[in-house]
This record gives sequence, C-alpha cells and structure tokens, in this order.
Amino acid sequence: MNSKALIKNEKKPLAEGRRVTLRPSAPQKPVKIFPLYAVFALLAMAIFLFSLDLRNSRRGLTFAMLDVGQGDALFIESPTGTRILVDAGPPRKILGQMARVMPALDRTLDAVIITHPDADHISGFADILENYKVKEIFDPGIADDSALYQNIKKIAEEKSVQNIPARRGMRLNIGGGAVIDILFPDADVRDWETNAGSVVARLSYGDTSILLAGDSPIDTEKIILAQTQRTLLKSTALKVGHHGSKNSSSAEFIEAVAPKYALISAGKENRYGHPDPAVLDIFEKSGIQAFRTDEHGTILMRSDGKTEAFSFYK
Ligand SMILES: [Zn+2]
Repeated sequence: MNSKALIKNEKKPLAEGRRVTLRPSAPQKPVKIFPLYAVFALLAMAIFLFSLDLRNSRRGLTFAMLDVGQGDALFIESPTGTRILVDAGPPRKILGQMARVMPALDRTLDAVIITHPDADHISGFADILENYKVKEIFDPGIADDSALYQNIKKIAEEKSVQNIPARRGMRLNIGGGAVIDILFPDADVRDWETNAGSVVARLSYGDTSILLAGDSPIDTEKIILAQTQRTLLKSTALKVGHHGSKNSSSAEFIEAVAPKYALISAGKENRYGHPDPAVLDIFEKSGIQAFRTDEHGTILMRSDGKTEAFSFYK
C-alpha cells in the first residue's frame, strides 16, 4: 500500500510526526451572540488521514460492527482505502475478525480511535498494536491507571504511535469525501468516569452517516444535544450507546439522531442484560430497525454515498 498520513491545521500545516495540540485558542469575537454550533464551526480543525489503495477500485464506504462478543470493535474503510478501527473489543477476538475485513497481506491501520479505556473496548488493542502498523491513536484523554490500559499505552509508545486527544470540532478527512466529525469530548475529561468521557463521533459519506455513541450515558447525550447542530446529529444509523443499556439512548437523543437503523454490539446472553428491552422498545416504537451482533453476527454496512446495504456473517 502506498499511503501517508498528514496532520494539519486548516490554516497552518504542521510537520508530520510533530505532537500537536488540538485545542485551538478561543475565538476573538464575543461568542455569546453566536449559537453554540457557530462556535463549533469556528473551532473546526481538519485532520487528513489519507490512504490510497490502488489495488482495488473501491467506490464506497464500508462500516463493520465486528462480532467480538460483549464489547465494541468497529471497522471503517473509506472509498479510497483508509482504514480505521474504533475500539478493539475484549481479549482474543479481534484478530480473527480483522482477518475477515482487511486485505490478506495488509497490516496497516491509518488510525485507531479508543472511545474510552474500559476492558470491553480496549483489551484487543495489544494484539492490534503487535500485529498491525498503527499510524495514529485518537483517544479522549481519560486518566486510567489500569494495568491493561497502561500496557497498551506502553506498547504504543514503544512503537512511536502518535497519540492525539479527540476533541469536539475535529474533522478527520478519510478520503473520497468521507469524514469523521468528533462531537465529544468538548473539554478535558481526564478525571471523568470512563463511560461519561467516551468519544462520540459521526462518520459520514454522501447521504449516509453513522453516529458512533461509544458508551456515553444519558448525561453525556444531554451535553451533546445542547452543543451540536441537528444536521450533525441526524444519522442514517446509530451505533447504539453502551451496548443498548438503559443508561444510554434517551428518547430525546434518539429523536435527534432519528436513525433508520440501530446497530447494537452485545455478547450472547451477557450478564448485563444488554440490550435493555426498554431501549429496544424505543427503537421499535420509532420504526427503527435494530441489528445486533449477538443475533446477526458481524454487521456490515456498505454505502455508495446514496444508499446503504447490509450483510451479516457469523
Ligand atoms: Zn462497553
């Protein structure tokens, strides 16, 4: 693969490999006269993660909710072949799943997004870092001293993977017109409870979009609802927050996202009772079609920018 990653501010390009602070200074003008989403626009920061894979004539976006049992692991491939993994699930599951979605001899991931440092989201990252060349890691910057997380950070450091805090206002351009907008965190969440500080992002390509809700609870949904313009929330599909737990997916949030599809990652007969029947009920009453990894296996959603098609495998 001939690929390169380039990070730059919209105005001032930054040298590759340089550690960047992605909290731009506050706008000069008084912000009170603007609605909050105007501030969002002012702070927008573009990040380019381009990968050009010439072997295949891909002309679409692939999103896969990998069946890793109780946890999350989401694979994204842009129309130009940029590949991103959002979370890596529990231990011993991820490599087998990656083999199904990655080209046979390709061992490069353009970026990894750690939504938050809980075991069911990060346990697979040690395997990923040992087996794939990862160019960048985006994370919420939550302080977590678990041996599991510290080990992943250590491996990433040894392999000189650049670590970038994900912050609201960042737009990851992943090629072919596909982008990932970071909607949360909006500030330093170092001391936050892990779920509450989850990275929330929206992947979009043409008319197709997927809201990636991490494990964010209802209180975090409220912050996002208050700060985000509705066109950046409304999405074709929702990666349902916290495996369908009743602590996420408030009626207000679901109404704002207004997805056609609810994608739920949960382990078969998991001990948490995910997804919660009350959450499934909200989807059913709203006419939202739910797909779940415990029933459908890996969920593959492909889009040509206009329409989306689903397929599944176990
Ligand atoms: Zn989780």
